[in-house]
Amino acid sequence: MTRRRLFGLGAAAIAGLALTSLAAASPVAGQTPSPAPTPRTGRPTDAAAAWRLLSEGNARFVRGNPRYSHQDEAWRDSLAAGQNPFATVLGCADSRVPPEILFDRGFGDLFTVRSAGEVLDDAVVGSIEYGVEHAGTPLVVILGHARCGAVAAAIDTVDGEGHLEGDISSLVRDVEAAVRATPPDADADAFLAACVRTQARRVAAMLLERSEIVRDAVQHHGVRIVTAVYELTTGRVERLP
Ligand SMILES: [Zn+2]
Repeated sequence: MTRRRLFGLGAAAIAGLALTSLAAASPVAGQTPSPAPTPRTGRPTDAAAAWRLLSEGNARFVRGNPRYSHQDEAWRDSLAAGQNPFATVLGCADSRVPPEILFDRGFGDLFTVRSAGEVLDDAVVGSIEYGVEHAGTPLVVILGHARCGAVAAAIDTVDGEGHLEGDISSLVRDVEAAVRATPPDADADAFLAACVRTQARRVAAMLLERSEIVRDAVQHHGVRIVTAVYELTTGRVERLP
C-alpha cells in the first residue's frame, strides 16, 4: 500500500470517527436537536463487499423500491470535508445510464467517470487512478450498457456505413477493435449486445495494461475490476463472467 493510499484511508477513518462522536452527542435539554449526520460506518473496505452493496442497490432499483439513501442534506453536509467513496465506476456517458441511480446510491458513494462507450483516454485513466489511489476505492466497475450508441456507431463504420465528424470519429474508432474481436452474428441485436460485452472486457484489460497504478492496486492491494452490463428495459446490471 502506497503512502498516499494509506493517508487517504487514514483521513477517511478519522472523518468517520469524528462524525460518529458527533452523532452520539446528547442533545441539549430544551433545544430541538438538528438532525445528526449519519455516521460514516458500514463503508465496504474490500471489493467483494463493495460489489455486494452495488448489487443490492441495483436489486432495489429493479424492484422499484429504491431507498434513495445518502441523498439527504445531512449526509451531503457531512461530506463537505472529504469524500470516502467505495467504488470507482467507469460507465458510458449515455443519459440513460446514471450509475448513482441504477445502483441506488447517493453523494460520496461512487467515484464516477463517464465517457461514451467507456473509451479510455488520458483523462479517463487518470480519473480512475485517482479513484483507486487517492479516494481508496477497493472496486473498479467497467459498466457497459445495452444498445450503446458508441458501439452501434463502431459496428456501422466497420460495415463501411455511416459518417462521423470531429472527435466523435476517433472515439468510435477506439471501439472498432471490440467489434472486430466479436464473433459475427446474423442477428443484429445479438451482435450489438455481444460487442457491448466485448468492449467492457476489453476496456478492463486495457486499463490494467495501461495503468501501473491500477495494476499495482490489483496485484498487491486487493483492488478488483468487475465488468458488467446494464439492461435498459429491466434496469438490471449483469456482472460479466
Ligand atoms: Zn453507450
